[in-house]
Amino acid sequence: RSSGVVRPLGAAPETPVVAGPGSRRGFARRLRAAIAAGELTLHYQPIMRLGDDTIPVVEALVRWKLPTDDGTTRFLPPSEFIPLAEETGAIEEIGAFALGDACRQLREWDDLGLQPVRVAVNLSARELCSPALPARVADALAESGLPADRLELELTESMFADPEATAKMLRRLRALGVRVAIDDFGTGYSSLGYLTRFAVDVIKVDGAFVRRAAEDHDAAEVVRAIVAIAHQLDLEVVAEGIETQEQLRFVQGEGVDLVQGYLFCEPLPADAAGAWLAWAAQVVARESPAAAASA
Ligand code: C2E
Ligand code: MG
Ligand code: MG
Ligand code: MG
Repeated sequence: RSSGVVRPLGAAPETPVVAGPGSRRGFARRLRAAIAAGELTLHYQPIMRLGDDTIPVVEALVRWKLPTDDGTTRFLPPSEFIPLAEETGAIEEIGAFALGDACRQLREWDDLGLQPVRVAVNLSARELCSPALPARVADALAESGLPADRLELELTESMFADPEATAKMLRRLRALGVRVAIDDFGTGYSSLGYLTRFAVDVIKVDGAFVRRAAEDHDAAEVVRAIVAIAHQLDLEVVAEGIETQEQLRFVQGEGVDLVQGYLFCEPLPADAAGAWLAWAAQVVARESPAAAASA
């Protein structure tokens, strides 16, 4: 059971949910219990295609639902439990939960008659090294009946420490028919070499980088080069973390394909995300019937 050490989402952590090394095993146990008790949940953030405003994909972002003393629910963001989950190995269970729940949710939206979207699920470095990953992905697809090309796996460059192993794992994953995205591009040791070496479908330029580029000329040139190379390689480019009209205009000008950020929609619980998707599809249908028909 949680100790109830919670605070409003976004506030600076005063007391860590998990203290010192001594409680690590306790943490892993608590996290596993939380997963079993249904305390993990996914929020979904729409990703919009520039040009026709359709929503081809939503990103699934995990939250830990913590009951509080006053009976309300707080959602703990991943930054406060993913790192320890990686260290303790509990990340494997989080990964299995996220894959399974995201695929199941997509089928639920299909059944409700929503326009089909893809779902992007984040993987951590440790999951990518796990020989069990391909089977876990295959299970999530088989159990939900979701077509493989509706699932996208987001990896970060930090996972590419062992290029040999990574290339092999990516081949196994893509053999299942899923899509692969490189997340947070521009923050790590971004090597354009990855883009040719590893078969991927999408690059997500990190929000912090996009925000800087909207103001800084040199960073803007880098974004332009990333987009040019990506398109040369037939990859799609997503700009993350778009918060202002100015940033939107900038990435539009650079030829970015897709955008994600608070300017359009923040990550929402599944019900609210479904309602948002239905609303967005209606707006597109009203304003641009051709785009709606082809979406
Ligand atoms: P990410 O994959 O790069 O996800 C984007 C993060 O940016 C999300 O934070 C999202 O809420 C936030 N964001 C979206 N739009 C904006 C914006 O306009 N401005 C700003 N400042 N932020 C925005 P979140 O949900 O806290 O997730 C943080 C990170 O945790 C994710 O970064 C991802 O690396 C990791 N994560 C989330 N869910 C999972 C999961 O199921 N498994 C694993 N392994 N990692 C996850
Ligand atoms: Mg991501
Ligand atoms: Mg990202
Ligand atoms: Mg990021």
